[in-house]
Amino acid sequence: MPLSVLRMIDTDFSDGMKAAIKAVPYAPVGKIGLQMKRRFWEEEDHIYGGHVLTDLKGINTISLPSSGWQQQKGVLLGYYNYSLDAIEVSALTPQERVEFALDAGEKIFPGYRSHYESAFSVAWHRVKYSLGGWAEWNEASRQDAYPKLLEGEGRVLLAGEHLSYLTGWQAGAIESSWQQVERLHRRASA
Ligand SMILES: Cc1cc2nc3c(=O)[nH]c(=O)nc-3n(C[C@H](O)[C@H](O)[C@H](O)COP(=O)(O)OP(=O)(O)OC[C@H]3O[C@@H](n4cnc5c(N)ncnc54)[C@H](O)[C@@H]3O)c2cc1C
Repeated sequence: MPLSVLRMIDTDFSDGMKAAIKAVPYAPVGKIGLQMKRRFWEEEDHIYGGHVLTDLKGINTISLPSSGWQQQKGVLLGYYNYSLDAIEVSALTPQERVEFALDAGEKIFPGYRSHYESAFSVAWHRVKYSLGGWAEWNEASRQDAYPKLLEGEGRVLLAGEHLSYLTGWQAGAIESSWQQVERLHRRASA
């Protein structure tokens, strides 16, 4: 369970453990998927997958699907935003987010809007069981909170991307689980 959610739960952890859980902020992150009626980027621009890196505020990256090539429709990533940009865009309604993404995309691919069919956007910091994209450690929290959280308390051991040095990656979550399984094994053996 992410620390962002755990810290909202009423627990009987010690004050030290509670402080460690609260010491780690989570990244605001947002994405939108835009379903297009036809794959104009393949048909007209001969682009098959990959990322369009832009300097458009709140958009950053438009990513084109690396699967389903030459099929009729396609879903592309209309924005991938972080930090303050993610907070601002997530304050828009879902329909306003679509308009924001379409206006920006039009600057890269003229006619973008005319191909639009439907959309789905997520702001991870507003999802009840995520409350953020991933843990954001700094030097101080790595030094104080990290060892405490790794140790767990009572019968509770924590594992996940947040308890690794590869935060924001699946590999971090997997490494963390191996580490904690080993810890559990040592405890049980003792
Ligand atoms: C936008 C975005 C893009 C990413 N892109 C990549 C990428 O390209 N490559 C990559 O490797 N990684 C990527 N990641 C990171 C990757 O998704 C995570 O590192 C990984 O999913 C973390 O796994 P986890 O098991 O630690 O946590 P999670 O997968 O978040 O699992 C935690 C689980 O706890 C559950 N939970 C929460 N609260 C409670 C509760 N109260 N009771 C019970 N259950 C609860 C949640 O529902 C969730 O299922 C991305 C993450 C985001 C947000």
